[in-house]
Amino acid sequence: MPAPVPQRPSLPRLRAAASECRACELWRPATQTVFGEGPRAARMMLVGEQPGDHEDRDGHVFVGPAGRLLDDALAAAGIERKAIYLTNAVKHFRYKSRGKRRIHQRPLAEHVTACRPWWEAELTVVRPQVVVCLGAVAATALLGARVRVTRDRGRALEHPQVAPAVFVTVHPSAVVRSRANGDFDAQFRAFVDDLRTADAA
Ligand code: SF4
Repeated sequence: MPAPVPQRPSLPRLRAAASECRACELWRPATQTVFGEGPRAARMMLVGEQPGDHEDRDGHVFVGPAGRLLDDALAAAGIERKAIYLTNAVKHFRYKSRGKRRIHQRPLAEHVTACRPWWEAELTVVRPQVVVCLGAVAATALLGARVRVTRDRGRALEHPQVAPAVFVTVHPSAVVRSRANGDFDAQFRAFVDDLRTADAA
């Protein structure tokens, strides 16, 4: 069954319809659909991979550790979170249970494909001037398999079917993980620089 995108989409209609989506199996073990959030007239849209453990429980995008890192990076870049639209390429949390813990699993290509109509509809409604893909899953979903985050980050890419200005950068969870190898400051600065460059486009 394909994603039940409404004929005349608005953000509230999309959110309501996505809450009933059964277009792939990810809805079954997840708590709820985590749809995008932000103003309909947002100039900038950020697209991540999928909701994580916190997002799945809370029903809101970017509220876990990666979300807090993103908040810090947006503040450092001088970007107001409430002015941007935040969403994910895949709207349900994919995970593996290990005891009581739920371990993040990267969505498969079939999940990304099944969920594509939702971010396409979000793009149609919001029509952002700038889109930033956070991490390889979002970058590949929106821009195709040839994009490489490490090679292509920090500069405008030509994808007019997505937005007039398109950028890729790392997912904030990668910056969170860089704490473990002592590279956090450099990774955080680079992430902030990427957001600032996108905001200036
Ligand atoms: S992940 Fe996307 S396509 Fe799959 S059930 Fe959830 S909303 Fe539908």
